[in-house]
Amino acid sequence: MKSFFCSLFFVLSVTAFSQTSKIVYLTADRVFDGVDMHEGWAVVVEGDKIVAVGPQEKIKAPSRATKINYPGSTLMPGLIEGHSHLLLYPYNITDWDTQVLKETDAYRTARATVHAKNTLMAGFTTARDLGTEGAGYSDVALKRAINEGIIPGPRLMVAGRAIVSTGSYGPKGYDHDQEIMLGAEPADGNDLVRVVRDQIGKGADFIKIYADYRWGLQGEDQPSFTLDELKLINEVTRSSGRVMVCHAKSKEAIRRAVMAGAETIEHGDFIDVEIGKLMKEHNVTYIPTIAAVDMISQYRGWKKGVTAEPANVTNKKKSFKEAIASGVAIGMGGDVGVFPHGENALEMELMVEYGMQPLQVLRAATSVNAKAFHLENQVGSLKEGLKADIVIVQGDPSKIISDVRKVKFVMKDGVIYRSEK
Ligand SMILES: [Zn+2]
Repeated sequence: MKSFFCSLFFVLSVTAFSQTSKIVYLTADRVFDGVDMHEGWAVVVEGDKIVAVGPQEKIKAPSRATKINYPGSTLMPGLIEGHSHLLLYPYNITDWDTQVLKETDAYRTARATVHAKNTLMAGFTTARDLGTEGAGYSDVALKRAINEGIIPGPRLMVAGRAIVSTGSYGPKGYDHDQEIMLGAEPADGNDLVRVVRDQIGKGADFIKIYADYRWGLQGEDQPSFTLDELKLINEVTRSSGRVMVCHAKSKEAIRRAVMAGAETIEHGDFIDVEIGKLMKEHNVTYIPTIAAVDMISQYRGWKKGVTAEPANVTNKKKSFKEAIASGVAIGMGGDVGVFPHGENALEMELMVEYGMQPLQVLRAATSVNAKAFHLENQVGSLKEGLKADIVIVQGDPSKIISDVRKVKFVMKDGVIYRSEK
């Protein structure tokens, strides 16, 4: 009760003293606040901030507010994509090697502006982008253009080039007489200190490391960096106030990444309860990227529901189930770019298909991701003082997860980007 009166007072005082900023009073059948679903709630936005959230009988519309009501709908915090590659597009249209080797950064950035718009229009108001895959620091430029309001797009956290160990990463299989540009920046040993700092200087918001890659004798995932190298990367990254995140599929790479201080594990194709518990103990969040595995398998000829399930899909299902059983925090990130930008919800549908409750998936894509990316004081929940990032979808995605695709309304920083009946 006390907090309600405080928030009401805040609304009234803001109303009284700032006559210029716009007030919007939003209602829908139900409001998901980032944790729980509430019937009959309202959200009040003033300027670029949320100023009140609560039951409609207590949170009344300020007199000069614009009222927006969506019957039959669910109002949620703007969704957070945890693992995107805005500089990539689906490999069944153009394979990864060709995108990395033959397409200029300028061409790829032109495409990325459309990808960014599609992401925002799908209700994803924030995205963590995990590397440009050969397009240099185009993500830093993209983020700037979005922040300056030049193009529409989600609020971005970007990795820049990302770091791989020498010899592990692709494109591969070309004549060694040619210098082949890689999809990330190679570095090893003490040189990692310089490369981490260089990437930070060029605009990386966090450092993305490929802690393993499919470079084993049989093409299996094997660690690419030693534990000491990962510790060195983490130490240098941390001292700049940033964090290290790791692509890690194999158990050993996950173990090293966690022990070295990684904050998120990307992909994690071979998690078991033991490694999941280790992640949990170290407050590491798991970003599963189920959709990438599913779609790449389909690009390779798997007819879902018709032909036999490929081993990588079976492994992924097992890994995801064990992760749930271990209690590790599970965020949402699909590796979108492998599949079309704007189809981000596919990952959420697959999380449900693989055994997670829809409400839990909604949390993953909002409050869990926000906490994992240190954004919980800005986005991922509907709370007084947070950024006015709001999405409204037809239906109830806590019952039918696919309803997250039925986007009717998108607001980011208080600006309405999509509004339809
Ligand atoms: Zn990725």
